[in-house]
Parts: sequence; C-alpha cells; structure tokens
Amino acid sequence: MDFSLTEEQQMVRDMARDFSREQLLPRARKHDEQGCIDPEVFVGLAELGLWGLTIPEEHGGAGMGNFELALVLEELNAGCASTGVTVSVHNSLLGSPIRRFGTVEQQNDWLPQLASGERIGAYCLTEPNAGSDAGAVKTSARRDGDDWILDGTKIFVTNGAFAGLFIVYARTNPLEPGAKGMSAFLVPCEAEGLTVGKAEKKTGIRGSSTTEILFENLRLPKEALLGEENKGFTVAMDTLDGGRIGIASQGLGIGRACLEASIRYAKDREQFGRPIGRFQAIQWKLADMSTQLDASRMLVHRAALKRDAGERCSLEAAQSKLMASKTANFCADECLQIHGGAGYTDDFEVERLFRDARITEIYEGATDIQRIVIARSLLA
Ligand SMILES: Cc1cc2nc3c(=O)[nH]c(=O)nc-3n(C[C@H](O)[C@H](O)[C@H](O)COP(=O)(O)OP(=O)(O)OC[C@H]3O[C@@H](n4cnc5c(N)ncnc54)[C@H](O)[C@@H]3O)c2cc1C
Repeated sequence: MDFSLTEEQQMVRDMARDFSREQLLPRARKHDEQGCIDPEVFVGLAELGLWGLTIPEEHGGAGMGNFELALVLEELNAGCASTGVTVSVHNSLLGSPIRRFGTVEQQNDWLPQLASGERIGAYCLTEPNAGSDAGAVKTSARRDGDDWILDGTKIFVTNGAFAGLFIVYARTNPLEPGAKGMSAFLVPCEAEGLTVGKAEKKTGIRGSSTTEILFENLRLPKEALLGEENKGFTVAMDTLDGGRIGIASQGLGIGRACLEASIRYAKDREQFGRPIGRFQAIQWKLADMSTQLDASRMLVHRAALKRDAGERCSLEAAQSKLMASKTANFCADECLQIHGGAGYTDDFEVERLFRDARITEIYEGATDIQRIVIARSLLA
C-alpha cells in the first residue's frame, strides 16, 4: 500500500497544520474553558474549504477523500480536539451519508450548504437506552399521508447546539424491534418540533457542543427519507466506518501533541543535574509513544485508502480506531507522567490533552465495540 503523499495532499495537510498552529493551538485552552469554539474558527475553516473537504466539487466542495480528511483531522486535533471533532462529524457523519445514499435532489439541496459551512452537520443515533446497542433506537417516524411524523429524544449529539442539518435515525417499523426497522431522515434545524435540549458538561473536548435533541410531532416531507425505508441501520453503520477513521485521526492528533509536548519538556526539565530526557526511562517512553503513533497512522491511512477505493472497510476502520484511540490515551498518560507534578496542573497543555484523549475510546463505538467488529470479521 502506497502511503506517499501527492503534492496536493501535502499542500492540504500543510494548510491544515498552519491553521492549527496559528489559529487553534493558541485558542485551545480558551475553547476548553469557555465551552465553545470561537466564531472566527468557523469562518477560518470555511475560508480554507475544510467544511467541504470531502464534498464533491460540483456541490461546492474540494472533492477529496477520507485519506485527505485523515491528514487534515490529525493536524486540527493536534491543535484543538474540540474543533477536530466538530469538523470530523460534519464531514464524516453528515456529508458522507448524503453523498453515498442521497438522491440527486438531496445532494443538490444539502451538499452546497454543508460545503460552505452555512449549515453544520450533526448525527443523531444515540438515545438514553440505545448506546452501544444502536439497534434499540426508540425514536419513531410514523407515516401521515405522504409525510412522516417524528417523535423521540436523542442524546450526546455533537454539534447539537449550532447544527443546521441533522441526520436522525428513527424506527419506521414498530413491529421490527432491532436494527431492521430503522430509517434515516434529514432534518433541518428550523423544522417545527425540533428542540435543542440539555448541553452536556464534559470531562474533555469541552469546546465542542454535545446536546440532547428532542423531536415532538415533527412533520417531515417524504423527501426527507435518506436511503431506503427500514434500511437506516445500514446507513448508520456505513457512515460510522468513515466516522471511526475520523476519530482515529483525532487520536493521532492528540497523541502527536502529547509526544511533542513530552519531547519539549524532556529537553527542558532538569533533575539530578541533567535534562530528564537523558534518562533512559524517559527515552523509552518517547520511543514507545513514537512507535505506537506511527503504527496507528498506518492503520488509519490504510482504512482511509480502502474506503476511498470504494471497498468495505469496517474491519480496517475498527482496527484503526481501536489502536489510535488506545495510543492517544497511552501517549497522554506517558506525557503527564513525564511532566511530573506540573503535568497534573493546568500550567501545561497535557492536562487538557489527557482529558481530551479519553473520549476517543468511547464515541463512535467504544473500544469493546471495535473489538466485537474486528472479532466478528475474523470469525465470519
Ligand atoms: C462527547 C460525546 C459525543 C458524542 N457524540 C455523538 C453523536 O454526535 N451522535 C451520536 O449518535 N452519539 C454520540 N455519542 C454517543 C456515543 O457514541 C456513545 O456514548 C457510545 O456509543 C457508547 O454508548 P453508551 O454511552 O450508551 O455506553 P454503553 O453502551 O452503555 O456502554 C457502557 C460500557 O459497556 C460496554 N459494552 C456495551 N455493550 C458491550 C458488549 N456487547 N460487549 C462488551 N462491552 C460492551 C461499552 O464498551 C462501555 O464500556 C457521543 C458521546 C459522547 C460522550
């Protein structure tokens, strides 16, 4: 597999790296403390075309693939993971299913608005009783003439507070209790009956928005159905293959930030009359962090290239997320240890990185769910 970058890929990666260093890193602490991302960042992302990175050119996007998205997300997350997840969800969890399952009309209606960042995307699958068991969704969509009526509550919706377009998974066949009776719908934020509920106070990625979204007697035209009726679970799982590559890239970015912070500190901090980086115990930590990050990156890039080639990549995406999220947490833990007591204070960014890394093992399928996906594929 060829992991070398074309000139265009290097350019887009470098552009994201510069933006991350100049605009995100200096704001990351502020985003964490204020619980939201500065509006200037949304504008900057639009100017660079990053909201539409994976949206086809004919719809106003850059027409790039999951591989380029992975490069960009690693860079953005190395600066600010709250911004990283916001962009990841928008591209992977909303732009992607509309591209892959949408009608020509749905693509014409929504993709240009997503590409420009005029509407930010959100993905509504999780419910109070449907987390890892996503097939247990209770939100219902019932027919009323040609329309659908949506009722239910979604939780933990990333971008919930400001999203302009939601993909919502609802049960369309009450007689099918599991994954089979679900369908996907596109719901604009202005739809009557949609309410943004409680905002979560989180351990990390505090600058990102995570809210409840409530639907009450919400009327949708038949054109809002995305993909086939009762085949929504397929849309949800296919979408998550891409999303997992995005979160794995987030793990890479956070892990790399931890490695870079560790190297800086190991050169700077002196004990016993020398920089702590001269102690072999510290050197081994750096070596392990760097090796695990490189191995994770190869898994992420392999999964992304496979998806871009139009092949099924559930196994590779799960492997990349499993490995990269564990690596992010490993790197955060080692980075904090290398910083000693200082790492346990907010004088250094490792405290935030440590909190931000934790989520990568939970959302878009917790670590054990990735293992289930991988094992299922091995045993099939
Ligand atoms: C900050 C944040 C943002 C999120 N953003 C979104 C979003 O945008 N859209 C969305 O739809 N959801 C979102 N989620 C939800 C997220 O995807 C779920 O939290 C996640 O899938 C886990 O579900 P759960 O929290 O209900 O945990 P549970 O399913 O209750 O799992 C609890 C524990 O049990 C383990 N477990 C469960 N089943 C098994 C099993 N069969 N075998 C072994 N272990 C098992 C899990 O691995 C986990 O460790 C977000 C969550 C958070 C915290």
